[in-house]
Amino acid sequence: MPEAPQDFCAFCGSRLDDAAPLRSCTSCGRAAYRDPKVGVGAVVLDDAGRLLLVKRGIPPAKGLWSLPAGFVDADEDPRAAAAREALEETGLVVDVGDVVDVWAGGGGRASFFLAFRATVTGGTLQAGDDADEAEFFALDALPELAFPSTRAVAERLSTPA
Ligand SMILES: [Zn+2]
Repeated sequence: MPEAPQDFCAFCGSRLDDAAPLRSCTSCGRAAYRDPKVGVGAVVLDDAGRLLLVKRGIPPAKGLWSLPAGFVDADEDPRAAAAREALEETGLVVDVGDVVDVWAGGGGRASFFLAFRATVTGGTLQAGDDADEAEFFALDALPELAFPSTRAVAERLSTPA
């Protein structure tokens, strides 16, 4: 494998010891923490009970459909991130509510993924940013879904409580 920046100490530039339980620098001994990448998504239903999905314009799973979703920025509130991604990808302003569930690795490149219930409060449906299309789908007529988390959300919504 080619060497990558994360293979080296951020303090002194020496190589990290991959064999150590907590990766540490072979020279100065400092620990190198690897932080998780957090993904969030919005679960939005319209008045007819249809689910809002976006067609992914970028890898992974390009061309497949997922919840409006993306990564949480540093110091960003996860709910604010979900609302931001929904607006960027669908043009809709949403009010973000309860957590539907949390998945480890369920959202593509995220280390873990949180899906929130969200309700539309404004905006106009129009795909943008990483999304090629944005559309509401009946739960019994969903397109091909991108991620295990997307499928789990769809399955849960389709199952009577
Ligand atoms: Zn070092």
